[in-house]
Amino acid sequence: MTNSIVAYIGLGSNLSNPIAQINSAREVIKTSKKSDEIAFSSLYSSPPMGSSDQPNYVNAVLAVSTELSPIDLLRYLQEIENRHGRVRAERWGARTLDLDLLLYGQQQINIPDLIVPHIGISERAFVLYPLQEIASDLEIPFFGSVKNLVAKCSLSGLEKL
Ligand code: AMP
Repeated sequence: MTNSIVAYIGLGSNLSNPIAQINSAREVIKTSKKSDEIAFSSLYSSPPMGSSDQPNYVNAVLAVSTELSPIDLLRYLQEIENRHGRVRAERWGARTLDLDLLLYGQQQINIPDLIVPHIGISERAFVLYPLQEIASDLEIPFFGSVKNLVAKCSLSGLEKL
């Protein structure tokens, strides 16, 4: 693809067969004409961040090469979330599918709808460990190397599936 950028996408689900939700989102993104898959991490299980009376999450990180602009990629991810029955309710509440734009090349973006690198990237085990698995030498703008961030981040119940 011409003019493509490497972007990292965080995937999470804790409802309606989470593994199937994650795999289905991966397939949709993979078959998009404007993005090619570069790498897909293992699936991980992680305890919920918000209220604990909800099931554990399944998480993964996907690397793509994309021609979409950052905002078009975000809109595309939101469309996929909606197609998977995502209903936006409680913050950090249970969800069928959550797609986060973690990184877009080395760009730092701060506009009303989009903050990149994603705000949770530096301290969430379910983002950092899968990210390190597929991009061990990655440098994250503002936050530093994924290796150093992982070294400072406890597993907090994260398990590889
Ligand atoms: P959430 O409910 O966690 O999926 O958050 C969705 C909201 O976060 C949307 O209103 C997005 O516009 C906003 N947002 C800001 N930065 C990002 C990002 N890097 N990836 C995904 N959503 C983002």
